[in-house]
Amino acid sequence: MTAYSFYSGLIVFIFGTCIGSFLNVCIYRIPENRSIVTPGSFCPNCKNSLPFYCNIPIFSYLFLMGRCKFCHTPISIRYPFVEALTGLFSLLLFLKFGLTPAMIYWFAFISVLITISFIDLDHQIIPDNISLPGILIFASSFYFLPEMTLKNVLLGILTGGGSLYAIALVYYLVKKQEGMGGGDIKLLAMIGAATGIKGVAFTIFTGSLFGTISGLLIMLSTRTADTRLRIPFGPFLSLGAILYIFFGERLIQWYMTCFVP
Ligand SMILES: [Zn+2]
Repeated sequence: MTAYSFYSGLIVFIFGTCIGSFLNVCIYRIPENRSIVTPGSFCPNCKNSLPFYCNIPIFSYLFLMGRCKFCHTPISIRYPFVEALTGLFSLLLFLKFGLTPAMIYWFAFISVLITISFIDLDHQIIPDNISLPGILIFASSFYFLPEMTLKNVLLGILTGGGSLYAIALVYYLVKKQEGMGGGDIKLLAMIGAATGIKGVAFTIFTGSLFGTISGLLIMLSTRTADTRLRIPFGPFLSLGAILYIFFGERLIQWYMTCFVP
């Protein structure tokens, strides 16, 4: 690795952590229908607004040793985690795609997936005011990604929205209760807009696999057999979609050679 690529990678990572810092604001405020622009960052406990040096991604958390500068209430480790995660994905995208329209497009997409996942973990909802505009915005994939076509975008949206809707409907008719939220359906339509029909099929398959494994692990560890256990599905679908961006083609090829005669 040359010095040039090392520094450009570092700049991309730092830029990613700053976006991650903004994602924390979105995760915290969007479910409460509050502005993501004003006011600036403040401590949720003592309401003191935070000076710029308390807003530096990751570092502020470290040198304040995880506590508010004013009231010393512990700050959730999730804030620096989301910042580091967003920085890491921006770096990985840069290494895979270089500084290209595809990298910018996927970075915006993964940022939205991170926001949706943490909101879903906290509130068990996926806000329509993210996923619905997301379907329209990420339908631009045929413009940014060389391998995408408008036809594939439309097929992806229909597959993502349609197949999960069918599963949810059957589940509802059999069990008389909602198994999969409407939010998951809109999220999958958004993933379909970005990754096309192959990507959304991959996402449904891997997302369901991750979700089922985690559900079983939770049931085993809590020793309850409550099948109505509500596990937020958004993070697993997001994980599946991100896996597709980085390894989708290779994993599909491997699957085909191993399991399809
Ligand atoms: Zn405070």
